[in-house]
Amino acid sequence: MRKIEYFGIVGGDKRQLETALSIQKDGYNVNICGFENANFKIKDLKQDTLNNVISKSEGIILPLPVTRNGTSLNAPFSNSEILLNNEFFELLKDKKVFCGMAEILYKSDLPYNKNNIYDYFNREEFTVENAVPTAEGAIEIAMREYSGTINGSKCLVTGYGRIGKILAKFLTGLGADVTVSARKKEDEAWIKLQGYHFANTNNLPEIQFDIIFNTIPSTIFNARTLAKTAANAVLIDLASAPYGVDYNAAKRLGINAIKAPSLPGKVAPKTAGEIIKNTIYNIIEEEL
Ligand code: NAP
Repeated sequence: MRKIEYFGIVGGDKRQLETALSIQKDGYNVNICGFENANFKIKDLKQDTLNNVISKSEGIILPLPVTRNGTSLNAPFSNSEILLNNEFFELLKDKKVFCGMAEILYKSDLPYNKNNIYDYFNREEFTVENAVPTAEGAIEIAMREYSGTINGSKCLVTGYGRIGKILAKFLTGLGADVTVSARKKEDEAWIKLQGYHFANTNNLPEIQFDIIFNTIPSTIFNARTLAKTAANAVLIDLASAPYGVDYNAAKRLGINAIKAPSLPGKVAPKTAGEIIKNTIYNIIEEEL
């Protein structure tokens, strides 16, 4: 028996619409709200009022991040603000709620029941799978910004976490000459075993890279490191805040540094939506 039959998707971007479509395709009942201004794919889904959508549903899927300002739902396609007020809180009270980056909800005065709120962004499988569209999006930017081909280019990937691992593999597949940086000895061992050149993140070499992909959320590319970086390099910063680049210094030095956040939703909303769906199914299977 399925633990939830009725899903309500409230707010979000293209990814949540793709999540809704994919869940509906699996045979569940899906109602959506907060997408009035989305002019794509909406006709295949049932839209209703906030009250009806939440009342009719057992599981409510909220956006990633659930809110950007702490006061209203992150609903870029809604024709009105969906406030995170007492009324909204009361509607959600007895529902199973799935959302991304829930912590910000708990900062409000409303006594959200953490036992009924499941954060899909905190799940490891979500982060790992999301690294694939992120890496593809990074390569798309590189193809656009670098005047040569990826094949034969000298690439540096800083950081050997989830995104670093996948990106290094994809770049190698395209025929790039790949160097990966890390700070841990075990990462150094893996990097070398995978056949990449190794660099120590704390002491990056002066080698002239064509394209640099940063995945480290710390200002690795400060003025000192940037001074050692080729002025014609393309530097793509994939890390979240506090980001990996001193952008003022990059500008002064004439380095093309590109901040590239939220790539999965931009380059592959369908896959990003399916990753959200699969993670929610895993939560339902394991935790409900
Ligand atoms: P991750 O698995 O945690 O990997 C981060 C890497 O950075 C690790 O190799 C880590 O090394 C290294 N690192 C962290 N702090 C460091 C420091 N101060 N000095 C040197 N190395 C440091 O993270 P991920 O999943 O690959 O994600 C990387 C970043 O991209 C995160 O900021 C994430 O939020 C962001 N992100 C961006 C997008 C996008 O669309 N642009 C999408 C998803 C995620 P250790 O293992 O030694 O700590």
